[in-house]
Amino acid sequence: MLIIKDINNLKNYINQYKSENRSIGMIPTMGALHDGHGALIKSSKEHNDKTIMSIFINPKQFNNKDDLSSYPINKGSDYDYAIKNNVDIVFEPDQKKIYPKNFQSIKNSFYKNILCDLYRPGHFDGVITVVNELLNLTSPNKVYFGLKDYQQFKIIEKLIDKSFSNIQIYGVETVRDQDGLALSSRNKFINKPNRLIYINFINTLNKFILSIDPETEIKDANQKLDKFIKENIDQIKKLEYCEFRSIQDMSINGKVKNSRLFTAFYILGTRLIDNLKA
Ligand code: AMP
Repeated sequence: MLIIKDINNLKNYINQYKSENRSIGMIPTMGALHDGHGALIKSSKEHNDKTIMSIFINPKQFNNKDDLSSYPINKGSDYDYAIKNNVDIVFEPDQKKIYPKNFQSIKNSFYKNILCDLYRPGHFDGVITVVNELLNLTSPNKVYFGLKDYQQFKIIEKLIDKSFSNIQIYGVETVRDQDGLALSSRNKFINKPNRLIYINFINTLNKFILSIDPETEIKDANQKLDKFIKENIDQIKKLEYCEFRSIQDMSINGKVKNSRLFTAFYILGTRLIDNLKA
Protein backbone atom coordinates (compact mmCIF):
# COMPACT_ATOMS: atom_id res chain seq x y z
CA MET A 1 0.00 0.00 0.00
CA LEU A 2 1.20 3.48 -0.82
CA ILE A 3 0.86 6.35 1.62
CA ILE A 4 0.94 9.54 -0.42
CA LYS A 5 0.98 13.07 0.94
CA ASP A 6 2.14 14.92 -2.13
CA ILE A 7 -0.51 15.90 -4.68
CA ASN A 8 1.79 15.63 -7.71
CA ASN A 9 2.89 12.20 -6.62
CA LEU A 10 -0.75 11.16 -6.33
CA LYS A 11 -1.47 12.52 -9.79
CA ASN A 12 1.39 10.48 -11.26
CA TYR A 13 -0.11 7.27 -9.92
CA ILE A 14 -3.58 8.23 -11.09
CA ASN A 15 -2.27 9.01 -14.58
CA GLN A 16 -0.54 5.67 -14.61
CA TYR A 17 -3.73 3.84 -13.58
CA LYS A 18 -5.71 5.70 -16.24
CA SER A 19 -3.15 4.92 -18.93
CA GLU A 20 -3.46 1.24 -18.00
CA ASN A 21 -7.26 1.56 -18.21
CA ARG A 22 -7.69 0.69 -14.54
CA SER A 23 -10.84 1.89 -12.79
CA ILE A 24 -10.45 3.89 -9.58
CA GLY A 25 -12.71 3.85 -6.52
CA MET A 26 -12.36 6.69 -4.04
CA ILE A 27 -13.31 6.80 -0.36
CA PRO A 28 -13.08 10.11 1.49
CA THR A 29 -12.61 9.68 5.26
CA MET A 30 -11.35 11.55 8.29
CA GLY A 31 -9.49 8.51 9.62
CA ALA A 32 -9.94 6.68 12.94
CA LEU A 33 -10.97 3.84 10.69
CA HIS A 34 -13.51 1.19 11.72
CA ASP A 35 -15.61 -1.44 9.99
CA GLY A 36 -18.02 1.22 8.68
CA HIS A 37 -15.14 2.52 6.59
CA GLY A 38 -14.30 -1.14 5.93
CA ALA A 39 -17.67 -1.65 4.21
CA LEU A 40 -16.89 1.24 1.86
CA ILE A 41 -13.50 -0.29 1.07
CA LYS A 42 -15.14 -3.66 0.39
CA SER A 43 -17.61 -2.10 -2.09
CA SER A 44 -14.84 -0.21 -3.83
CA LYS A 45 -12.67 -3.33 -4.06
CA GLU A 46 -15.59 -5.19 -5.65
CA HIS A 47 -16.22 -2.54 -8.30
CA ASN A 48 -12.77 -1.15 -9.12
CA ASP A 49 -9.23 -2.13 -10.01
CA LYS A 50 -7.71 0.40 -7.60
CA THR A 51 -8.99 1.86 -4.35
CA ILE A 52 -7.85 5.21 -3.01
CA MET A 53 -8.80 6.25 0.51
CA SER A 54 -8.22 9.80 1.64
CA ILE A 55 -7.59 10.52 5.30
CA PHE A 56 -8.04 14.21 5.93
CA ILE A 57 -9.55 15.83 8.99
CA ASN A 58 -11.30 18.66 7.26
CA PRO A 59 -11.28 21.73 9.51
CA LYS A 60 -13.87 23.49 7.35
CA GLN A 61 -16.62 21.05 8.26
CA PHE A 62 -16.28 21.48 12.02
CA ASN A 63 -18.56 24.23 13.18
CA ASN A 64 -17.42 23.55 16.74
CA LYS A 65 -13.74 24.08 17.61
CA ASP A 66 -13.77 21.59 20.52
CA ASP A 67 -15.16 18.92 18.24
CA LEU A 68 -12.23 19.48 15.86
CA SER A 69 -9.56 19.49 18.55
CA SER A 70 -10.93 16.32 20.18
CA TYR A 71 -11.50 14.43 16.91
CA PRO A 72 -9.79 11.01 17.26
CA ILE A 73 -6.53 10.51 15.38
CA ASN A 74 -5.22 6.98 15.00
CA LYS A 75 -2.60 7.02 12.29
CA GLY A 76 -0.70 3.80 13.01
CA SER A 77 -3.78 1.64 13.31
CA ASP A 78 -5.38 3.40 10.30
CA TYR A 79 -2.47 2.30 8.13
CA ASP A 80 -2.71 -1.25 9.50
CA TYR A 81 -6.43 -1.28 8.85
CA ALA A 82 -6.04 0.01 5.29
CA ILE A 83 -3.27 -2.50 4.54
CA LYS A 84 -5.32 -5.38 5.95
CA ASN A 85 -8.22 -4.35 3.72
CA ASN A 86 -6.06 -4.07 0.60
CA VAL A 87 -6.43 -0.35 -0.02
CA ASP A 88 -4.04 0.63 -2.81
CA ILE A 89 -3.36 4.25 -1.86
CA VAL A 90 -3.94 6.17 1.35
CA PHE A 91 -3.93 9.82 0.38
CA GLU A 92 -3.12 12.06 3.32
CA PRO A 93 -2.83 15.59 2.02
CA ASP A 94 -1.49 18.55 3.89
CA GLN A 95 -4.07 21.11 4.93
CA LYS A 96 -2.16 23.92 3.22
CA LYS A 97 -2.14 22.02 -0.06
CA ILE A 98 -5.86 21.38 0.01
CA TYR A 99 -6.60 24.93 1.09
CA PRO A 100 -3.92 27.25 -0.28
CA LYS A 101 -4.01 30.95 0.56
CA ASN A 102 -7.08 32.78 -0.77
CA PHE A 103 -8.87 29.48 -1.31
CA GLN A 104 -12.57 30.01 -1.99
CA SER A 105 -14.95 27.63 -0.23
CA ILE A 106 -18.11 26.46 -1.91
CA LYS A 107 -21.50 27.24 -0.40
CA ASN A 108 -23.81 24.27 -0.29
CA SER A 109 -27.23 24.97 -1.76
CA PHE A 110 -28.79 21.50 -1.42
CA TYR A 111 -31.16 20.24 1.29
CA LYS A 112 -30.75 23.45 3.25
CA ASN A 113 -32.23 24.33 6.65
CA ILE A 114 -33.23 20.81 7.57
CA LEU A 115 -31.73 18.14 9.86
CA CYS A 116 -27.97 18.64 10.35
CA ASP A 117 -27.82 21.72 8.16
CA LEU A 118 -30.11 23.46 10.60
CA TYR A 119 -28.05 22.52 13.67
CA ARG A 120 -24.54 22.71 12.21
CA PRO A 121 -24.44 25.94 10.20
CA GLY A 122 -21.65 25.84 7.62
CA HIS A 123 -20.95 22.13 8.14
CA PHE A 124 -22.08 21.08 4.68
CA ASP A 125 -20.27 24.02 3.06
CA GLY A 126 -17.11 22.43 4.47
CA VAL A 127 -18.11 18.94 3.36
CA ILE A 128 -19.01 19.92 -0.20
CA THR A 129 -15.85 22.03 -0.48
CA VAL A 130 -13.49 19.23 0.53
CA VAL A 131 -15.26 16.56 -1.50
CA ASN A 132 -15.16 18.83 -4.54
CA GLU A 133 -11.38 19.21 -4.03
CA LEU A 134 -10.80 15.50 -3.46
CA LEU A 135 -12.80 14.49 -6.53
CA ASN A 136 -10.91 16.99 -8.68
CA LEU A 137 -7.59 15.65 -7.39
CA THR A 138 -8.36 11.95 -7.70
CA SER A 139 -10.82 11.92 -10.65
CA PRO A 140 -12.16 8.49 -9.71
CA ASN A 141 -14.70 6.41 -11.63
CA LYS A 142 -16.69 5.74 -8.49
CA VAL A 143 -16.92 7.32 -5.06
CA TYR A 144 -18.27 5.75 -1.86
CA PHE A 145 -20.18 7.30 1.03
CA GLY A 146 -21.91 5.82 4.07
CA LEU A 147 -25.67 6.13 4.41
CA LYS A 148 -25.20 6.77 8.11
CA ASP A 149 -24.52 10.35 7.01
CA TYR A 150 -27.56 10.31 4.78
CA GLN A 151 -27.94 14.05 4.26
CA GLN A 152 -24.25 14.25 3.35
CA PHE A 153 -24.76 11.42 0.84
CA LYS A 154 -27.73 13.23 -0.76
CA ILE A 155 -25.82 16.53 -0.93
CA ILE A 156 -22.80 14.88 -2.57
CA GLU A 157 -25.15 13.07 -4.96
CA LYS A 158 -26.35 16.52 -6.08
CA LEU A 159 -22.79 17.85 -6.33
CA ILE A 160 -21.84 14.93 -8.55
CA ASP A 161 -24.95 15.34 -10.65
CA LYS A 162 -24.06 19.00 -11.19
CA SER A 163 -20.27 18.95 -11.56
CA PHE A 164 -18.92 15.40 -12.00
CA SER A 165 -21.16 13.65 -14.50
CA ASN A 166 -18.48 11.01 -15.19
CA ILE A 167 -18.30 9.85 -11.55
CA GLN A 168 -20.76 7.38 -10.05
CA ILE A 169 -21.69 7.66 -6.38
CA TYR A 170 -22.47 4.64 -4.19
CA GLY A 171 -24.20 4.73 -0.81
CA VAL A 172 -23.23 1.95 1.60
CA GLU A 173 -25.66 0.87 4.33
CA THR A 174 -24.74 1.66 7.95
CA VAL A 175 -22.55 -0.90 9.69
CA ARG A 176 -23.54 -1.55 13.30
CA ASP A 177 -22.03 -3.34 16.24
CA GLN A 178 -23.83 -6.51 17.35
CA ASP A 179 -25.83 -4.54 19.90
CA GLY A 180 -27.12 -2.16 17.21
CA LEU A 181 -24.85 0.81 17.79
CA ALA A 182 -23.89 2.43 14.48
CA LEU A 183 -20.10 2.42 14.19
CA SER A 184 -18.62 5.89 14.45
CA SER A 185 -15.21 7.34 15.21
CA ARG A 186 -16.92 9.26 18.01
CA ASN A 187 -18.17 6.11 19.79
CA LYS A 188 -14.97 5.98 21.80
CA PHE A 189 -16.37 8.88 23.81
CA ILE A 190 -19.36 6.79 24.91
CA ASN A 191 -19.07 4.69 28.05
CA LYS A 192 -21.03 1.50 28.70
CA PRO A 193 -24.07 2.95 30.51
CA ASN A 194 -24.43 5.63 27.85
CA ARG A 195 -24.05 3.08 25.14
CA LEU A 196 -27.07 1.31 26.63
CA ILE A 197 -29.03 4.56 26.55
CA TYR A 198 -28.24 4.94 22.83
CA ILE A 199 -29.18 1.32 22.08
CA ASN A 200 -32.45 1.58 24.02
CA PHE A 201 -33.28 4.76 22.14
CA ILE A 202 -32.64 3.16 18.73
CA ASN A 203 -34.57 0.01 19.71
CA THR A 204 -37.51 2.11 20.86
CA LEU A 205 -37.50 4.06 17.58
CA ASN A 206 -37.37 0.79 15.64
CA LYS A 207 -40.39 -0.45 17.60
CA PHE A 208 -42.24 2.72 16.65
CA ILE A 209 -41.36 2.18 12.98
CA LEU A 210 -42.71 -1.37 13.16
CA SER A 211 -45.95 -0.12 14.70
CA ILE A 212 -46.69 2.36 11.95
CA ASP A 213 -48.45 1.53 8.67
CA PRO A 214 -45.99 2.12 5.79
CA GLU A 215 -48.82 3.79 3.85
CA THR A 216 -49.06 6.56 6.48
CA GLU A 217 -48.24 10.07 5.24
CA ILE A 218 -44.85 11.23 6.55
CA LYS A 219 -46.40 14.38 8.05
CA ASP A 220 -48.90 12.30 10.08
CA ALA A 221 -46.19 9.86 11.15
CA ASN A 222 -44.07 12.76 12.40
CA GLN A 223 -46.94 14.02 14.56
CA LYS A 224 -47.40 10.56 16.05
CA LEU A 225 -43.65 10.25 16.54
CA ASP A 226 -43.47 13.57 18.44
CA LYS A 227 -46.13 12.34 20.84
CA PHE A 228 -44.46 8.93 21.15
CA ILE A 229 -41.11 10.53 22.00
CA LYS A 230 -42.68 12.73 24.68
CA GLU A 231 -44.28 9.67 26.25
CA ASN A 232 -41.50 7.09 25.83
CA ILE A 233 -38.09 8.73 25.58
CA ASP A 234 -36.76 10.33 28.74
CA GLN A 235 -33.10 9.34 28.84
CA ILE A 236 -31.99 11.39 25.83
CA LYS A 237 -31.73 14.85 27.35
CA LYS A 238 -30.71 16.74 24.25
CA LEU A 239 -32.55 15.60 21.14
CA GLU A 240 -31.92 17.89 18.17
CA TYR A 241 -34.23 16.22 15.72
CA CYS A 242 -36.09 12.99 15.26
CA GLU A 243 -38.29 12.83 12.17
CA PHE A 244 -39.21 10.87 9.08
CA ARG A 245 -38.13 12.36 5.76
CA SER A 246 -38.46 11.19 2.19
CA ILE A 247 -35.43 9.31 0.88
CA GLN A 248 -36.10 10.79 -2.54
CA ASP A 249 -35.94 14.49 -1.77
CA MET A 250 -35.55 14.70 2.03
CA SER A 251 -38.90 16.49 2.25
CA ILE A 252 -41.78 15.63 4.55
CA ASN A 253 -44.00 14.77 1.57
CA GLY A 254 -44.91 11.22 0.66
CA LYS A 255 -45.43 8.02 2.57
CA VAL A 256 -43.52 6.39 5.38
CA LYS A 257 -42.62 3.45 3.11
CA ASN A 258 -40.43 5.85 1.10
CA SER A 259 -38.77 7.46 4.09
CA ARG A 260 -36.19 7.03 6.79
CA LEU A 261 -36.27 8.16 10.37
CA PHE A 262 -33.47 10.65 11.00
CA THR A 263 -32.18 11.62 14.41
CA ALA A 264 -29.40 13.65 16.03
CA PHE A 265 -28.83 13.72 19.77
CA TYR A 266 -26.24 14.22 22.45
CA ILE A 267 -24.93 11.62 24.84
CA LEU A 268 -22.95 13.44 27.49
CA GLY A 269 -21.04 15.94 25.34
CA THR A 270 -20.95 13.83 22.20
CA ARG A 271 -23.23 14.57 19.27
CA LEU A 272 -24.37 11.46 17.40
CA ILE A 273 -26.50 10.95 14.33
CA ASP A 274 -28.32 7.92 13.04
CA ASN A 275 -31.06 7.04 10.61
CA LEU A 276 -33.29 4.02 10.41
CA LYS A 277 -34.99 2.39 7.45
CA ALA A 278 -38.75 2.76 7.68
P1 AMP B 1 -15.80 9.86 8.42
O1 AMP B 1 -14.42 9.33 8.50
O2 AMP B 1 -16.57 9.77 9.69
O3 AMP B 1 -15.87 11.21 7.75
O4 AMP B 1 -16.58 8.86 7.44
C1 AMP B 1 -16.07 8.56 6.17
C2 AMP B 1 -17.12 7.79 5.42
O5 AMP B 1 -17.46 6.59 6.12
C3 AMP B 1 -18.43 8.59 5.26
O6 AMP B 1 -18.94 8.38 3.96
C4 AMP B 1 -19.31 7.97 6.31
O7 AMP B 1 -20.68 8.07 6.01
C5 AMP B 1 -18.86 6.52 6.28
N1 AMP B 1 -19.21 5.84 7.53
C6 AMP B 1 -18.92 6.25 8.79
N2 AMP B 1 -19.46 5.40 9.70
C7 AMP B 1 -20.10 4.44 8.99
C8 AMP B 1 -20.87 3.28 9.33
N3 AMP B 1 -21.09 2.92 10.59
N4 AMP B 1 -21.38 2.53 8.32
C9 AMP B 1 -21.18 2.87 7.02
N5 AMP B 1 -20.47 3.95 6.63
C10 AMP B 1 -19.94 4.72 7.59
